Amino acid sequence: MSDLDAFIAGLPKAELHVHHVGSASPRIVSELAARHPDSTVPTDPEALADYFTFRDFAHFIDVYLSVVELIRDAEDVRLLTYEIARDMARQNIRYAELTVTPFSSTRRGIPDAAFVEAIEDARKSAESELGVILRWCFDIPGEAGLESAEETARIACELQPEGLVSFGLGGPEIGVPRPQFKPYFDRAIALGLHSVPHAGETTGPETVWDALTHLRAERIGHGTSSVKDPELLAHLAEHRIPLEVCPTSNIATRAVRTLEEHPIRQMVDAGVLVTVNSDDPPMFGTDLNTEYGIAARLLGLDTDGVAGLAKNAVTASFMDTTAKARLAAEIDAYAASWRG
Ligand SMILES: [Zn+2]
Repeated sequence: MSDLDAFIAGLPKAELHVHHVGSASPRIVSELAARHPDSTVPTDPEALADYFTFRDFAHFIDVYLSVVELIRDAEDVRLLTYEIARDMARQNIRYAELTVTPFSSTRRGIPDAAFVEAIEDARKSAESELGVILRWCFDIPGEAGLESAEETARIACELQPEGLVSFGLGGPEIGVPRPQFKPYFDRAIALGLHSVPHAGETTGPETVWDALTHLRAERIGHGTSSVKDPELLAHLAEHRIPLEVCPTSNIATRAVRTLEEHPIRQMVDAGVLVTVNSDDPPMFGTDLNTEYGIAARLLGLDTDGVAGLAKNAVTASFMDTTAKARLAAEIDAYAASWRG
């Protein structure tokens, strides 16, 4: 491990773009599979590691869906959520806004109240036992259409989980125009939730404009193609709308061809508040520490620069000001201890 990697490993961090089921590591999947012996997912760690070695994007989708298939009851949801926090604690992630997709569970027969109770229970245990603060972004799976948008908004409004801070939109962008989701985002925003849709990952900058105009986005998931529109970059910088950048994910989904061609540098140079995230870490063979290492190399950052990146995530988060100040101070103290 290089000095910089060691610095990153110990650095207190916040993560803003990471998916619930997409965070199921081989260890977690084996625990879930053990609860459901009829599933086709291997439980033996070695076979699982092989299972998690992705050949291509289609294989990723297959594995993702087989993990979704393992989340059958509220206890599975609780276990998944708590164990994700355990994986986060090992990376010194102190705070995470986890993107959860209640529709995937409720359509599989888990009652909405049981789903919410399971994630909330895991959230409280994770905070008291592991020191990881979890917050939720309730995400519309765009490919499931307006029915899923209605269900996601309904659950948010009716159950209002304590940890819920934001409302999102994921899934494919091609063929799923953002403006149609405006009424659901309006309801979520009226409830006090922040708007954080995915946009500009696999489509052009016009999708980011749509997210800003119609969904009143306060942060953009990916926003990779924003660099193709200087006016958009200037707008994001001026209005302090952060981008949630996930380098390895962008390569895995072919949103960007190679890491060397990743536009993170252009985003930073344009004055945009850039945060670094892992998206679906075990599924893309990465974790947040690895993504920080990649970003540090692409941006030519030293330890202070990396600490600055970690503070960007604090700034861009939906923590209250006291919590922000506390985590920022922790990052500063850590960085200072490395200088000393
Ligand atoms: Zn995502």
